[in-house]
Amino acid sequence: MKFEDTKIAYALKSDQELFRAYLIFKMISKQILVRLGGALALIVLRLGLPLKAIFRKTVYQQFCAGQAEDDSLKVVESLARLNVKSYMHFAAEGQKNEKGMDESMKRVLETLLLSKQNNALPFAVFKATALGSVHLFEKQSAGMPLDAEELLAWDRVMDRITECCEFARQENVRLLVDAEESWLQAAIDEIVLSLMRKYNTGKQPFIFNTVQMYRKDRLTYLKTLFQTAENEGFKLGIKLVRGAYIEKENDRALEKAYPSPICDSKQETDINFDAGLDLILSKLDQCELFLGSHNEKSTMRVVQWMNENKLSSDHAKIWFSQLYGMADHISFNLAAAGYQVIKYVPYGPLKEVLPYLIRRAEENTSVQGQTPRELNLIKKELKRRKKAKAS
Ligand SMILES: Cc1cc2nc3c(=O)[nH]c(=O)nc-3n(C[C@H](O)[C@H](O)[C@H](O)COP(=O)(O)OP(=O)(O)OC[C@H]3O[C@@H](n4cnc5c(N)ncnc54)[C@H](O)[C@@H]3O)c2cc1C
Repeated sequence: MKFEDTKIAYALKSDQELFRAYLIFKMISKQILVRLGGALALIVLRLGLPLKAIFRKTVYQQFCAGQAEDDSLKVVESLARLNVKSYMHFAAEGQKNEKGMDESMKRVLETLLLSKQNNALPFAVFKATALGSVHLFEKQSAGMPLDAEELLAWDRVMDRITECCEFARQENVRLLVDAEESWLQAAIDEIVLSLMRKYNTGKQPFIFNTVQMYRKDRLTYLKTLFQTAENEGFKLGIKLVRGAYIEKENDRALEKAYPSPICDSKQETDINFDAGLDLILSKLDQCELFLGSHNEKSTMRVVQWMNENKLSSDHAKIWFSQLYGMADHISFNLAAAGYQVIKYVPYGPLKEVLPYLIRRAEENTSVQGQTPRELNLIKKELKRRKKAKAS
């Protein structure tokens, strides 16, 4: 397994789309452009300037399936033809008022309904701060008391989450819960733990929590989680990721003068991630792994472990997941070899999904990330196609 076959990796992309992908990755690999672009995008959207079309035709089209569910379903179908499953998400973030939160819940329910009718959509997802205010999650995570009004608002958050879970169970679609900033995560972890206690008592876990291994404390957290699940007799669903909020985490720690919860280096994150991965693989009888990563080494670590332990490539307890528009060489080569692969497929109007897009662009500026590899593979495929046409 080498993820090198670019013909398989980019089979869904026309020459034009591939060239566009090349230009976008080239552009967002430059930190200064991403910083300027992120700020510019916010201004452009606020003022409704015509430049909007440029964002729509570039970063948006690369990382987002479309404005509405119908657009996304077309993407889901094309992925399914290559043996890649999907989970859809209306990617609006950090809702600030009750109406927006109710709207987000409706979107989750809608994707659950679509997922129920479609074998290519075995999971759905929600982000807790789309269903409740950041302010409440922050207070709850810090153990601060809520006032009477906040208590009522918190009840409504819990009602929205319960409604999503009950509907998911009714429609038999499993649910992932995203991980967020560390100062919000303690409340999210507590909620997801109670959901796992309630819903994960069957053979398969139904609710999955996300664990960010760029956090220094997460290996201990994982160990405790396994112990709790074993003691209380429920299954764990774990989406393992490195973590997407590194700059925000480090900036806040600096500003508020507390030690950053994030590993001191990329290498330390990688070691922590491997340790988490090994722990999960050693306890597959108790859990199911959902590996959310574009890192080839991490992916290979799991593939090798499966080979060594004689697990079939389509083993039901191991999922490999990448984001739409990224790491296609991993997704499609794994899928062609029979592994369970699932893409995160976000959709929504440009204005709403902007924070998600800016995060993707920021992530791709890291020289230690996967962008140079992605660029090389796209270049290789463009050359291969040119040569094939010439001969
Ligand atoms: C399917 C899927 C679901 C996801 N869901 C979530 C989610 O719910 N919550 C969330 O937070 N993220 C989520 N992510 C994003 C994820 O956390 C990573 O940001 C992203 O995947 C890049 O990490 P990587 O493993 O692909 O590979 P790599 O490119 O090898 O790693 C990059 C990551 O390493 C870490 N890193 C980079 N530099 C340093 C440094 N100097 N010091 C310490 N650590 C460093 C950061 O976490 C960075 O994102 C998801 C990703 C996928 C593919």
